[in-house]
Amino acid sequence: MSEPSDQQQRFDATAACGSQCEEALERLEAFLDGELPDADVQEIASHLTACYPCTDRATFEEQLRSIVRRDCVDDAPASLVDRIRVHLSDLPTA
Ligand SMILES: [Zn+2]
Repeated sequence: MSEPSDQQQRFDATAACGSQCEEALERLEAFLDGELPDADVQEIASHLTACYPCTDRATFEEQLRSIVRRDCVDDAPASLVDRIRVHLSDLPTA
């Protein structure tokens, strides 16, 4: 006998904010670049305050940026940055 219901056990950390996370992360780069209108900035900022996983990712992106800006202007390990970027966009959001 099989019990299919047990197979559905998945990690569901994003359930709390769901699609808000996707929206926030989609605009994260523009947010960090200061390219968003005030209303969006407030929306994302308040989401980041309430959502720990998104705060984590925003902090990571921010640190990555400042490292790249400070240390790697001429001799940037672009492949490393690319790899991190791909990894970030690869993370499950739903
Ligand atoms: Zn979130």
